[in-house]
Amino acid sequence: MAKVLLENIQRKFNNVTAIEDITFEIPDGEFWVLVGPSGCGKSTILRTIAGLETATSGNLFIGDRLVNDIPARARDVAMVFQNYALYPHKTVAQNIAFGLEMRKVDRKIIQERLLTVARSLSLENLLDRKPKQLSGGQQQRVALGRAIARQPQLFLLDEPLSNLDAQLRDDTRAELKQLHQQLRITTIYVTHDQVEAMTLADKIVVLNRGRIQQIGDPQSIYALPANEMVASFLGNPPMNILPAIYKGDNFDISGQLLAIPENIKNSLNLHPEQICNLGIRPEHIYINLDEQSTFGRILQKNGEYREEVSDLLAEVKVIEPLGRETLIRTSLPNSFGFINVQVPGGVRLHPGERLHLRLDLDHLFLFEPSNGKRIF
Ligand code: ATP
Repeated sequence: MAKVLLENIQRKFNNVTAIEDITFEIPDGEFWVLVGPSGCGKSTILRTIAGLETATSGNLFIGDRLVNDIPARARDVAMVFQNYALYPHKTVAQNIAFGLEMRKVDRKIIQERLLTVARSLSLENLLDRKPKQLSGGQQQRVALGRAIARQPQLFLLDEPLSNLDAQLRDDTRAELKQLHQQLRITTIYVTHDQVEAMTLADKIVVLNRGRIQQIGDPQSIYALPANEMVASFLGNPPMNILPAIYKGDNFDISGQLLAIPENIKNSLNLHPEQICNLGIRPEHIYINLDEQSTFGRILQKNGEYREEVSDLLAEVKVIEPLGRETLIRTSLPNSFGFINVQVPGGVRLHPGERLHLRLDLDHLFLFEPSNGKRIF
C-alpha cells in the first residue's frame, strides 16, 4: 500500500491541454474519487498515474518512489476499466489467478487468495464458469477480483460500474466500499456519477476543464462548495441558481423582490445593483399554498417557528413523485428555467397551480457571475 503524490502534473495532446497544474497527495490507504463532467481530465490523470500516459511536466510519486520514468508494469498498480476485458476461454478461477501465475506466485498462496477474493465478491459458486456464462455484473466482479488478487499497492478504477444496471450498480458500489474497509488499499476512482463520488469517497477531487476546482470530504464540499460549478455538480437534483440584482434590502429576482433578513444583510459585501447568482438547494425551499405571500412566522421542517421568511411567487410545472419525497419543478412568471423544490412524498399539487416558495436563507449561497466564485 502506498501514498500517492502528484506535483504540478500537466498533460498536453498537441495544442489541447487535457490536465493542468494537478497537485494533490493521497495518504496511504485512503479512497479518493475524481469527479467532473465529460472531458474534464479524470481519465488522463488516472492513466498518468498508471503509467499508460506520460505527463508533459510535473512529478508523480507512488510511495516514496518518483515514478515519472518507471514503466506501467513496474509500478505495482492494478487498474480496472469500464470495459472489463476477461480472458474468454479461461474460467473465473483462472481469470482471477492469471496475474499471480504470471508472477510465479506459490500455488498454495494463489489458491488461498483466490478463495478469499471469491468469498469477498460472492463469486464462490461461479469459479468454474466461463465469462460468457456470467451476467455483466458478475463479469465486472471477476475483473475487480483479478485486480484485488494481485494485492497491488495502488488500485485505480475508471468508471468500473457504468456498464451495470441500476440495482447491480448500487449493490456493487456497497461491495466495493466494504472491500476497501477490509483491505485498505489506496484507491483512486474515476466517475462522473456524483452519487458514487459522495458515497464512496474519503476525499473528492472535483475537476473541470483539466483543473482542480475543489478537494475535500463529501459533506464539506456539499455544504460549502468553492464555486458555482462545484455547487451545481454535487447534489441531485442540483442546486438552483437564480440570477439576482442586489438592492440593499432585497434581491430582485426576475422582477420579484426577495427580502433579505437583517443578519444576512450585515454580512453581505455587495454594492447596490450588483448582479450575482443566488444559489439554493431544493431541500432548502419550502412551499406555501396560501393565496397571500406572508412575511412573518412560519413552521419549519423541525417543527419550530421562525420569523423573517422570504417568498417568491411561482407556478408548478412538473411534479415527479419519488416515493419518500416529491420533486416539484416550478418556474417564476416571466422567467426561463426551473426552480426545483423537494417536498415530502404525498404532497398533492397540480401543474399550473400557483404557490409561494419560501427560501431558507440560512442556506443561501451567492456566486460571482463572471468567474463562478462563491462570494457568500
Ligand atoms: P469522460 O468522462 O468523457 O471519460 P474524462 O474526464 O475522463 O472524460 P479525459 O479522457 O481525461 O476526460 O480527456 C480530457 C481531455 O483531453 C479531453 O478534452 C479529451 O478530448 C482530451 N484527450 C484525451 N486523450 C486524448 C488524446 N489521446 N489525444 C488528444 N486529446 C485527448
